[in-house]
Amino acid sequence: MVRCFLIFCLFWTINTYSQSIIEPTDPRHTEDWSRKPLVVVSDPLKWDIPADALMLLDDNMEQWTKLDGSPAQWIMENGIMTVKPGEGNIVSKSAFGDCHLHLEWRSPLIVKGNGQGRGNSGIFLQSRYEVQILDNYNNDTYYNGQASSLYKQSPPLFNACSKVGEWNTYDIIFKAPRFDLFGKKTSSGMITVIHNGIVTQNNTEIMGTTEYIGFPKNFPHGGAPLMLQDHSDLVSFRNIWIRRL
Ligand code: MG
Repeated sequence: MVRCFLIFCLFWTINTYSQSIIEPTDPRHTEDWSRKPLVVVSDPLKWDIPADALMLLDDNMEQWTKLDGSPAQWIMENGIMTVKPGEGNIVSKSAFGDCHLHLEWRSPLIVKGNGQGRGNSGIFLQSRYEVQILDNYNNDTYYNGQASSLYKQSPPLFNACSKVGEWNTYDIIFKAPRFDLFGKKTSSGMITVIHNGIVTQNNTEIMGTTEYIGFPKNFPHGGAPLMLQDHSDLVSFRNIWIRRL
């Protein structure tokens, strides 16, 4: 009993003493002046594209290929790229990890189909984690398969879809998952999505790959390309840019 009391007194003394040393008394003690954030400006004449952004789609598809590495064959007209059904998914030539991705998409001008069969595409971060693209304007489907969902993992907080014929914007802030040397995941990916200015995913944990059938998988990987989905619908894209974080 006496021993326990002495140990308690010892810890109390150490704790009190350490707090008296660490707790700052001057506001400058907690100011970090060792570095500065980089200055990045936007050019309002260029769609507010940050100066250090990498353009992935403006007036050509040079940054995109088929899955086998051959040139992408989707339709490109006046800076607008449209899925060519049957051509398959396309991937970016570059690989990415943590990033801020901006893209603009438009559902097909002629409305046809229902649910997942209407204006379906998707943007896959690191070719594995799909943020759903879907014409959800007056079109019901399952909760976790809506536009702006992390497909089959996290429904969107809101339905922010534009009307048919109008453009949608996605701004996606993505933190990639981490794996150790043995391939075990040490931290999950995280994703924030802003759809037409509305936060629809708020720092959502990515449980693993976004599977059509089955549960999320977690196989180790490093940086990987973006992938756009050919779901046989005439979804269009423009003005895609990315910033590495
Ligand atoms: Mg999709």
